[in-house]
Amino acid sequence: METIDLRSDTVTQPTAAMRAAMLDARVGDDVYGEDPTVNALQERLADDLGFDAGLFVPTGTQSNLLALLAHCERGDEYIVGMEAHTYKYEGGGAAVLGSIQPQPIVHAEDGTLPLERIRAAIKPVDPHFARTRLLALENTWQGRPLPLDYLRDAHDLARSQGLGIHLDGARLFNAAVACNVPAREIARHFDTVSICLSKGLGTPVGSVLLGPHALIDKARRWRKVCGGGWRQAGILAAAALHALDHHVARLQDDHDRAARLAEGLRSIPGIDLLGQHTNMVFIHVPGDRLRALDAHLRDAGIRISIGYLPTLRLVTHLDIDDDGIARTIAAFAAFFAAG
Ligand SMILES: *Cc1c(COP(=O)(O)O)cnc(C)c1O
Repeated sequence: METIDLRSDTVTQPTAAMRAAMLDARVGDDVYGEDPTVNALQERLADDLGFDAGLFVPTGTQSNLLALLAHCERGDEYIVGMEAHTYKYEGGGAAVLGSIQPQPIVHAEDGTLPLERIRAAIKPVDPHFARTRLLALENTWQGRPLPLDYLRDAHDLARSQGLGIHLDGARLFNAAVACNVPAREIARHFDTVSICLSKGLGTPVGSVLLGPHALIDKARRWRKVCGGGWRQAGILAAAALHALDHHVARLQDDHDRAARLAEGLRSIPGIDLLGQHTNMVFIHVPGDRLRALDAHLRDAGIRISIGYLPTLRLVTHLDIDDDGIARTIAAFAAFFAAG
């Protein structure tokens, strides 16, 4: 029985074609800037998304951290969502390693940070205050693509206040596919963008930070300081180039399957469907039945993640097909029918 792992889109296995591309990769020492496949990946994403340069790094957490370290100095501040990955799920790295103070803002329901709340959080230039330097957004946010006109307005606000603007675009391509625009239409509102290759795109490892030369040069220095200067990383970059060619348009399949999963779960008594956005489905189930549900699903070969968020998040990806969706709906239905 094949396992259906709905915990995250990070769990995918590289496809046979991706492994073949990795096997054939030309490589060199990336600390010397000599890995041709890493360089090709960085240049390709920079060109596609409209930036000067890119930097291939091991994780999205490191990519966001390097962006914050490149934009901000010790004693500076960045404005960020209270539920944003950068603020909440990255170990407080900006504060720990950069002496950068976060200023969290409560998200609106749609994942945006309301412009008036941002404006109110920007500190006057005065020795009492940290220096507000950067606005950091996330797209998609809990699966939701942020509205394009909001991105333009947020950019204009940041510019008018002299702030930089960074996007945690871990799932930028999901947002682009959902909005039916090229990814560059989203990226153009930001100074720097971080993209995860190991989520919906299905590669084993890696993220890319994109931006202007001055910021990417700073980020490259900080990557070395953080121990992220790697060597023949072209093996991994080859997987990423393969994914950019073959795994972007198909994200629509993940979104369609998430929609079908939501439809199937909606009518099951005991499940409260909270929403479905891109490749994520959010449901609420009675708290006292969570452990039993988890055990029941495990027996049916289905993995879910309980206890991270107050609600359950089910994520579709490359390794979940139509049969996986049908099996999942059937397993949920059987559990709640048994009451
Ligand atoms: C996964 C993720 C990251 C980075 O995660 P890593 O596991 O460090 O690669 C950053 N932001 C968001 C929104 C994410 O989902």
